[in-house]
Amino acid sequence: MVFYSTRRPTEIPVTGVVDFIFENRNRIPDNKRLLIDASSNDTLTFGQIKQQTLQFAAGLQDHCQFNRGDVMAIFAPNMMDYSIPFLGALAAGGTVTTANPAYTARELLHQLSLSSAKVIVCTVGNAPVALEAANQAGISPSNVFVFGKTASPLGPRPYSQVLLGGRQLEKPMAIHNPLDEVSVMCFSSGTTSMPKGVMTTHSNITSNILQLDAMLYPFIKSPSDHLLATLPFFHIYGLVVVMFMALYWGNPLVVMSSFDLVQFCETIQKHKIKFASVVPPILVLLAKQDLASKYDLSSLQTLMSGAAPLTTELTEEVMARFPQVTVIQGYGLTETSPVLTVSPHEIVRHGTSGMLLPNITAKIVNEEGKEVGVGERGELWVKGPNIMKGYIKNPKATAECIDFEGYFHTGDVAIIDKDGFVSIVDRIKELIKYKGFQVPPAELEGLMLASPMIADCAVIGVYDKEQATEIPCAYVVLKPDYAASDETAKVIQKFVADQVVNYKQVRIVRFAKEIPRSAAGKILRRILRDEANKLATKA
Ligand code: AMP
Repeated sequence: MVFYSTRRPTEIPVTGVVDFIFENRNRIPDNKRLLIDASSNDTLTFGQIKQQTLQFAAGLQDHCQFNRGDVMAIFAPNMMDYSIPFLGALAAGGTVTTANPAYTARELLHQLSLSSAKVIVCTVGNAPVALEAANQAGISPSNVFVFGKTASPLGPRPYSQVLLGGRQLEKPMAIHNPLDEVSVMCFSSGTTSMPKGVMTTHSNITSNILQLDAMLYPFIKSPSDHLLATLPFFHIYGLVVVMFMALYWGNPLVVMSSFDLVQFCETIQKHKIKFASVVPPILVLLAKQDLASKYDLSSLQTLMSGAAPLTTELTEEVMARFPQVTVIQGYGLTETSPVLTVSPHEIVRHGTSGMLLPNITAKIVNEEGKEVGVGERGELWVKGPNIMKGYIKNPKATAECIDFEGYFHTGDVAIIDKDGFVSIVDRIKELIKYKGFQVPPAELEGLMLASPMIADCAVIGVYDKEQATEIPCAYVVLKPDYAASDETAKVIQKFVADQVVNYKQVRIVRFAKEIPRSAAGKILRRILRDEANKLATKA
C-alpha cells in the first residue's frame, strides 16, 4: 500500500538555492536584521547578507580560481555570518560541504578528500586541524580562510578581509539544472559503513523549504517572532530547518555558537524567542534541571524536536513545566534534505513524528519484503522531491538505498496509523545516534581493530532513558595476552577517544568471548542489542 501525504502538494522550485532566497517571496525589507549573534549582539540585515554573498562569490573566483562545480568546506561552529560563505560558494556555482568543527584531522581529511574540497573556511581555533587536513588533501594553505577579523598565527586570513570588499557578482551564477546540480554535501553513514558525502541538489533544498513552510509556518505567528539557532549548521537539520527557514521567512534568527543550557535560557529570555528547534537531550535538561525554571521563558511557544526519538513522557514533562509551550516533533535524514514528517499544527499527537510533508509518498515494507498497511510495522520507504541525488563517488551505496521506482529505503522501522501519523519505532540500519549526532559503528570498529589489544569487536547503541539518547557501546574480544579489566576498558576508550570527535567516543566497553556473526561474516548486531537491553532491564 502506498501512503500519500494528506497535504496539498507544494510547487517544486526550479531555481538555484541563492536565487530562491534572493527572490524574497516573503518581502523581507533589506534593512531587516535577520541574523543576530547571541553573545555579541552583532547583526546582519537581509541587504547585507545579499551583498556579502555576491562579494564572497566574486572573491572566491578572483582569489581561489573557484569555478562552477567546485567544492568549499566550512569547518566551524555556528556563527552569525555562517550563511555568507555558505551562500557565497553556492552563488559562485559551487557546492558546500559542512564539517563538524570538533573533528580530528583524520575525520576532516576523509570529508575533504571524498568531497574534493578546494577551499576551507574555518575558525582561528581550529585552523591547525584544518591546515593539517588541507595539507594531506592537497589543498593550498592560501585557500584556507578564517571567520572573524583576526588572522590565524598559522597564516589563514579572515575571509572578510580577503574575499569581501572587492568586486561583487551582479547576480548569482545560474544553476542550469537545479534537479541535478549539488548544492550541499553533508556527511552521513547511511545504512552501513563509513560516512559518505550526501549529494543534496539545489532543488532538494528549495523543495524541503517549501514542504516545511507548509507545515511549520502556522506555528510562527508573525514575521517579527524571533527564532533560536542552537543546533549546529553543519548538520542538515540546523542548516535547513533553522538557518534556511529563517532566511526564507525573514524571521530574526538568534545564533548561538553551540548548546549551553544557561546561554539557551538567557537567550530565550533576552530575545523573547518564540520558536526553537532542539534534540531530545535538550528537552531532558529543560524538563529536569532546576536552572531552567530560574529564567523567564514565557515568550517560548514552540519547541520542535528532531534527529532522534522523543517519548510522550518527556514531551509531557516539558509541557507540564512550561505550559505555554507546544512540543512538536519532526523526523528525517540527511539523505532526505532532511525533513519527511512533522506534527501538523491542527493536531499535535505526542509520541508520533507527525505526518508526511506535502509531495511525499511512503511505503511500509515488512521483513519478508511485503508492503504492509495501516498500523503495521516495517521499514519506511519514501519518495519525494527532497530525496538526495545519491552518495558521492559511491554508486553502489546509492543503488542499495534508492530503488528503481525512486523509493529511498530509510533503514528506520515505522508504523503509520489510520489518520496518517507516523511513529518511528526502531532502526534496522547500523547507525547509532548519540544526542542527535551520527556515530557510524563501522568507523569505530575499523579504528578499534587497529589496536594491538583487540582481536574482534562490534559497536552498538544502548538506549539511556535518563539522557534520552543512545550510547555507543563496544563489545570487545581481547587478544590472548590481554586480560579483561576496568583498566583495559579505559585504555581502549582512550585509544578511540584520541582519534575521534567527542560524541563518537565509546562510552561503554563490554568484553566478550566472540562477536556473533552470520555465515557471511556480518556482525549480528540484533543479538548484541538484545543482550544489552536485557542487561539494562536488570540494572
Ligand atoms: P541524520 O542523517 O543524522 O539526520 O540521522 C537520521 C536518522 O536519525 C534517522 O534515520 C533516524 O534513525 C533518526 N531520527 C531522526 N529523527 C527522528 C525521530 N523524530 N524519531 C526517531 N528517529 C529519528
